[in-house]
Amino acid sequence: MNKTDVLIIGAGPTGLFCAHQLGIIGLSCEIVDNLDKAGGQCIELYPDKPIYDIPAIPECTGEELTNNLLKQIKPFNVKTHFNQRVEELKKVRNRWHIKTSGKQEFDVASIVIAGGVGSFEPRKFPLKECEKFEGNSLFYSIKDKSIFKDKTVSIFGGGDSALDWAIELSNTSKVNLIHRRDGFSGAESSVQKVKELNDQGKLNLYTNCQIASVSGDKNIDLVKIKHDDGDVKELKTDYVLGFFGLIMQLGPILDWGLNIDKKTITVNTENFETNLNGIFAIGDICSYPGKLKLILSGFHEGALAARGCFKYAKPDEKLRFEFTTTSKAAQERLGVKK
Ligand SMILES: Cc1cc2nc3c(=O)[nH]c(=O)nc-3n(C[C@H](O)[C@H](O)[C@H](O)COP(=O)(O)OP(=O)(O)OC[C@H]3O[C@@H](n4cnc5c(N)ncnc54)[C@H](O)[C@@H]3O)c2cc1C
Repeated sequence: MNKTDVLIIGAGPTGLFCAHQLGIIGLSCEIVDNLDKAGGQCIELYPDKPIYDIPAIPECTGEELTNNLLKQIKPFNVKTHFNQRVEELKKVRNRWHIKTSGKQEFDVASIVIAGGVGSFEPRKFPLKECEKFEGNSLFYSIKDKSIFKDKTVSIFGGGDSALDWAIELSNTSKVNLIHRRDGFSGAESSVQKVKELNDQGKLNLYTNCQIASVSGDKNIDLVKIKHDDGDVKELKTDYVLGFFGLIMQLGPILDWGLNIDKKTITVNTENFETNLNGIFAIGDICSYPGKLKLILSGFHEGALAARGCFKYAKPDEKLRFEFTTTSKAAQERLGVKK
């Protein structure tokens, strides 16, 4: 059981800055995120795009913002738990116990939900039989590309992920790229490259085709694809990869008894606490009159929620308002005190 003052759900910009604000006032926290890295929408949806409305930063990309937020919380050694979604919530006396899909358990005084638009999850194949192979020979993301070396890999999708992986794996594997349309949504340069590789016989491209079935004993050994004209083709394959983009899901948080309004959590604007004592919601996931779904609003919300957490973590202490420019305690926590 991980025991800490606060569990932050979501390592998007809002969750990361809240971790900073908790650190400044002397509270410990850990962060859980369903993605495999920090940054939320900034890193998943627009890492290379410039943002122009972060106060005092005229321009930075989603990735640069994330890296700077991570740098800013470095002094606090915040523990992060990726690739897992929060599932169960239980009140145990005056603390909260949380379990994640990664079998981690937390015992905390309060929780800050900074879940944005929900956890990003891959859009999956519509065939029920695909579930049986998920995680052993069918994947929606790649963690270790070395397993595909010298194998046959059938990649489905027409966006950047499908194209990029088809190009990369064609160096070491036999690749089939299957897309349900003729046109692709990925970068034009990648589309051209895939067509060249197909012409050179270095990968097999099948357009206007969809998955019809997968079969095999423990692992997949055959995938059937169906052309729009009804023609069915059998492809011997060791692995199937599906890259159909991400969907956002709030998941079990919806069943925690929180006041939910149109997939957002209602909060009071004094400290961003929800209807459950000790559970706060900040960033895109919270709603209140006048809410702006902007990063700067999430920063403000995180600062107030952190202070709201204080009385649950240290009920016998009073939180004093201090500036970082002059607070010796804050500077000590930041490791900058001369
Ligand atoms: C294309 C685009 C451009 C944008 N440009 C701007 C801009 O210029 N300026 C601006 O201010 N804003 C911009 N935004 C909006 C901005 O990105 C969001 O307001 C911001 O990301 C919200 O931050 P957040 O931390 O609340 O949520 P998110 O960034 O959505 O992060 C939430 C995190 O929580 C995780 N999570 C959710 N549920 C769970 C769960 N149950 N268990 C575990 N983890 C979970 C998710 O995986 C995710 O990593 C833009 C958005 C998009 C899509």
